[in-house]
Amino acid sequence: MQRLAHPHDIRAITMQWHSEKHTIAFVPTMGALHEGHRSLIDEARARADKVIVSIFVNPLQFNEQRDLDSYPNTLDQDFEVCLSAGVDLVWTPSREDMYPDNHGTMVVAGIQGEQLEGAHRPGHFDGMLTIVLKLLNAVKPTWALFGEKDFQQLALVKQLVKDYYLDTDIVPMPIIRESDGLAMSSRNIKLSQQTRRRAIALYEALMTVQDAAQAGYADFSNVIQSMHQRLNALEGFTLEYAVLVDPESLVEQMVLERQLRFLIAGSFENEGQPVRLIDNGPVIRLSDKTIPLQYS
Ligand code: AMP
Repeated sequence: MQRLAHPHDIRAITMQWHSEKHTIAFVPTMGALHEGHRSLIDEARARADKVIVSIFVNPLQFNEQRDLDSYPNTLDQDFEVCLSAGVDLVWTPSREDMYPDNHGTMVVAGIQGEQLEGAHRPGHFDGMLTIVLKLLNAVKPTWALFGEKDFQQLALVKQLVKDYYLDTDIVPMPIIRESDGLAMSSRNIKLSQQTRRRAIALYEALMTVQDAAQAGYADFSNVIQSMHQRLNALEGFTLEYAVLVDPESLVEQMVLERQLRFLIAGSFENEGQPVRLIDNGPVIRLSDKTIPLQYS
């Protein structure tokens, strides 16, 4: 397994691989790797001749300095994970490598990036899209794998690829969860035992909506309203949003006429410092689950 830092070196090796007609699967991460990242890497390994994992905590996508400063760093363990998963190349650039003094431009996320996460994290998606464009252009992978855990991010990355004619297939990957349902996240290691127990509220909210869909509910206004009340009453928790949206446009919906997506975000007060968590999942109409009759 190789480890490289500078984008020029990444360009050199990936251009060589492309000239040798190798397929490349790429997994961009911010490190502190867990089973969620590992599932992306395993899928990359199963698809491609060459697997690249990048580890870079991108300062441009952090709207709070404190969040950036406290972002977990487990680089030695991350190398072990990559080695055991059969990764060919780990890309660990420095901030200067990615943003030298003469770096001048940025991608703007636009309207799609202003709602939900964007509304609570101003500038986050501009920073995210800027680094993703840089990473994808350096590697020019056949496939790039992204988790549904960051559902809005995934939608925006697909839009980026479309808008800028990037020659990469974006592969969405399902959310990997802890045994009690909490979505795996690098930020989970910051949770105290007490907050960790409370954090399950996000998954429970998702279950509430999915159960209501199972029970045949169509209008979700009351379900969402009472959920908001419950979450707002939760001690040490600040709800940012809990909404049903169209999975393509991310426009809010209240009526389940087709498959929707439930998205939730909030922050837990954790030993004097907030820890922000997100989660989401599909909400499927009862009748969409029935298998259509086959006539012969
Ligand atoms: P991050 O290191 O948080 O930037 O995440 C890197 C990639 O891993 C992103 O595409 C995330 O959506 C994905 N990811 C993070 N957590 C999970 C999870 N629990 N399940 C699946 N994918 C995940």
